[in-house]
Amino acid sequence: MKYSIIGWNGFLFKIPEEAHFATESGDFKNGYMRFESEDYFFGIKWEEMHPKKKRSVDEVASAFLKKVEKKLKKRKASIQAKKKIRISEHNALSLSVKSEMNECIYFMFCEKSQRMIILNFGFKDLLNFKEIMKEVLLSFRCHSEELNQWSILGFSFSAPQSFLLVERSMMVGRTTLLLREQKITPLTESRKEILFEYFSTANVRFEKEYRDMERWTKKVYFKDLKKRYKKIKFKEVGEEEVNGHHVKVNAGSRISGILTKSSSIYKNVSWYCEEQNRIYSVTISEQLSTPFFKKKVIDREKFEELARQITSSIKCH
Ligand SMILES: [Zn+2]
Ligand SMILES: [Zn+2]
Repeated sequence: MKYSIIGWNGFLFKIPEEAHFATESGDFKNGYMRFESEDYFFGIKWEEMHPKKKRSVDEVASAFLKKVEKKLKKRKASIQAKKKIRISEHNALSLSVKSEMNECIYFMFCEKSQRMIILNFGFKDLLNFKEIMKEVLLSFRCHSEELNQWSILGFSFSAPQSFLLVERSMMVGRTTLLLREQKITPLTESRKEILFEYFSTANVRFEKEYRDMERWTKKVYFKDLKKRYKKIKFKEVGEEEVNGHHVKVNAGSRISGILTKSSSIYKNVSWYCEEQNRIYSVTISEQLSTPFFKKKVIDREKFEELARQITSSIKCH
């Protein structure tokens, strides 16, 4: 069986390619995501636990059990043995529930990311499913010391853990992820963003432009990008290689404001990926707002380094 790697909100795991990505919601602190195939599903639910209000894994599992029991009584299903296992360096409590589908549910607490995690597998036939469940659980990671990998829908890239998912839309034809790192002190506000987008069936949708990225960025994309990042003007500043593609680099900057000075810099790379028939466009930006008397400026070298670190981690096919 072929597996793909999923990276999302600090989680990293393998899932069979045949299981499609069904839904996701929330953010790093609280969220849910689910994959489905004809014969099984896999869901992850996570919730931040404040050290002061922390509940133990047992408490969370019992509360869950109570809820399920109520439902199950009506459906005449049963709950089977509880077991303890290790997942991603944590002790997990496992529970199996039999209703119209068989379910295995795992509860664990990740002290590194301060999250209570519930993994839920549902399947028709355990014999066929055992191998899959083993593979998912063995590969499952809920924390890391390094970068966070974002990997879904056939692409992946890595970003520092301080960048959080603040916006996304996965529509037919266009997928957008926006990650942000924000630092606010009494006098300054710093905001760094990674805007990762792709457009599918590019050869049909952008029939005239897809082979000419300069034309596509100027005629199509930058007009759209200006709605998000006001008044930026891009100019071509060089070339880079991204996942084997030759990619033009565009950069822009802007300073505005009198009493509060706001400066921003942008770097954009856009390319057509033949293998996926997608146009990808990635914009990395930094904005700094300070009162006029403060002499703080954006560290361009650090920005360049961050931008390179991100673009060099991109896998588009
Ligand atoms: Zn963990
Ligand atoms: Zn590619």
